[in-house]
This record gives sequence, C-alpha cells and structure tokens, in this order.
Amino acid sequence: MSSQQNTQSQTQYDSPRVPRRTPMACQFCRGRKLKCDGGRPSCSNCNRRGQPCVYAPV
Ligand SMILES: [Zn+2]
Ligand SMILES: [Zn+2]
Repeated sequence: MSSQQNTQSQTQYDSPRVPRRTPMACQFCRGRKLKCDGGRPSCSNCNRRGQPCVYAPV
C-alpha cells in the first residue's frame, strides 16, 4: 500500500513582481552599439558628442 501524499504547502513562486528597470538605450547608442547609461535628459555618450539624446518609446 503506497499512497503518495501530495503536500502542497504554499507554493512560493518567485514571481517578478517588481519590473526590472532595464536601462533603455537611446537612439544614438543603439545605432552605434554603445553602452548607454540611460542618462536623462542626455546620456553620457550623447552629452559628449553633443548629440540629441532621443529615447524611443518601446
Ligand atoms: Zn545613450
Ligand atoms: Zn543618448
């Protein structure tokens, strides 16, 4: 006689409740494959080059 006990005790699922804030790359950095630090209003890359830092909405 083997009865498997199905003990389901509070499944603590690690649900990503907090949306991970991924630093969005601006257009300039994206086009140049640069590492955008997501600075506002201008990221460091754009700031350095005097480029208009544009963040395109996803
Ligand atoms: Zn950038
Ligand atoms: Zn930028």
